[in-house]
Amino acid sequence: MQKYQLYIDGAWADPLSGEWMETMNPYTGQAWARIPRAGAADVEAAVEAADQAFTQGEWPGLNATQRGLKLRKFAEILTGEAERLAEIEVRDNGKLHAEVLNQCRYMAQWFHYYGGLADKIEGSAPPIDKPDVLNLTRHEPLGVCACITPWNSPLLLLAWKAAPALAAGNTIVVKPSEYTSASTLEFAALAEQAGIPKGVINVVTGLGEEVGQPLVRHKKVRKIAFTGGETAGARVNTDAAPGFKRVTLELGGKSANIVFEDANLDQAVNGAISGIFAASGQTCIAGSRLLLHESIHDEFLERLVSLAGEARIGDPMSPDTQVGPITTEPQYRKILDYIEIAKNEGARLVLGGGSVPAPEGNQGLFVQPTVFADVTNDMRIAQEEVFGPVLAVLRFTDDEEAIAIANDVNYGLAAGVWTESLRRAIKVSERLEAGTVWVNTYRSTSYTTPFGGYKASGLGRENGMEAIKEYLQTKSVWYYSGGDVANPYTRR
Ligand code: NAD
Repeated sequence: MQKYQLYIDGAWADPLSGEWMETMNPYTGQAWARIPRAGAADVEAAVEAADQAFTQGEWPGLNATQRGLKLRKFAEILTGEAERLAEIEVRDNGKLHAEVLNQCRYMAQWFHYYGGLADKIEGSAPPIDKPDVLNLTRHEPLGVCACITPWNSPLLLLAWKAAPALAAGNTIVVKPSEYTSASTLEFAALAEQAGIPKGVINVVTGLGEEVGQPLVRHKKVRKIAFTGGETAGARVNTDAAPGFKRVTLELGGKSANIVFEDANLDQAVNGAISGIFAASGQTCIAGSRLLLHESIHDEFLERLVSLAGEARIGDPMSPDTQVGPITTEPQYRKILDYIEIAKNEGARLVLGGGSVPAPEGNQGLFVQPTVFADVTNDMRIAQEEVFGPVLAVLRFTDDEEAIAIANDVNYGLAAGVWTESLRRAIKVSERLEAGTVWVNTYRSTSYTTPFGGYKASGLGRENGMEAIKEYLQTKSVWYYSGGDVANPYTRR
């Protein structure tokens, strides 16, 4: 079995805790590697290394252009290694190879984009309403940033954090999910090849309470970029508060995918399936509430059920597979619990509704694509994040009702709108309480446009120009050129 080590200060190290944990292949159900189960002492070493790298040595000595060049070099290396990284990630999280490979190839763009942005972070010279003063503003890095990632898209979500953090001149300590740490450790090794100085990127693996929590609480960590569930997100926010640390939180969702009566139904059926069954529904942006106009409800549901019923379940490495395994056992149990909850609430099961054995004698955990109709928005299946292939279908009669249902939820990560009417697309998208609204498409993200949640779906934004500000602080510098000596007891 492969054995990984921690990556701290440019070197591979066994955990000071002396403990290890196994990482599983969700398809075979077998452990395939050993990962350090680090503890607070390892976090201390990693934060110390990141702090040293931030304050002295090569990294702070680089100008922004040189820093950007290193990130773009890293992007080239990541592109060359995309296939290898994708295989490792599939082995660890069981997502379809076709999707993970795309993600691993796409990930490099974050380093190109933010590498290019590094030397375009400009301050300003505000005109000051006082004589003999020159005022300049500078955007400065924060220091050590903690990047905490979940298991569903470990590398892509790390790129969303690491690229702007490093472009801004910070250093990072990464804490990947305990279920999917291998690809992040491989990523760190590649940063070294790109000439990113030691200590700038550090990776500490282990559990949330044993590694994540001491990292968030460490006094030298100035910012936490977290993606995960709302329970851990709330904990992170609370733990960061006494140190007045910057926090960005990318949390869960219960996104509404709304199909109006004038929609292109072929596209919309496809979008509804992609919204909930891609990645076996294990995505934060899952369109897990499908809102159908009453006039198309029955026809749409029939088409959806017929298409989703044919989804090929199997080996995530196979190009023919459409629905792969559930990544973790707790997640599998949670999905099955929600299926029971929905049945007990009176939702009408129209597809799936249970587990399926893993093909070819494997031990992986699979859940059938599942659809519940006649869901009302007060049911738990309409309000709570399942994070699995379980779709709740609701009916509406007019635009006002669709908007009201869509917004009547704690979350606000994303929404889909399917209509051929430009006027309706504009009006509805303006009124949806969601950080991303897709019109006639679903599940697209890009390095160029901000991503983040309204309401309980998070704080702050990743991606695009906005994200770089999350890793910078502004300093206002006053230069006085007057010759007088002013009254020291009055404010200038
Ligand atoms: P999780 O919250 O259980 O864990 C996320 C990460 O936080 C892991 O690395 C975990 O070890 C760590 N962690 C746990 N407790 C911690 C603590 N007290 N302090 C610091 N770190 C801690 O989430 P998960 O099960 O890995 O991922 C699924 C969740 O992630 C879902 O809710 C999903 O919606 C969300 N998610 C959100 C986005 C987004 O961009 N909004 C993207 C992907 C996943």
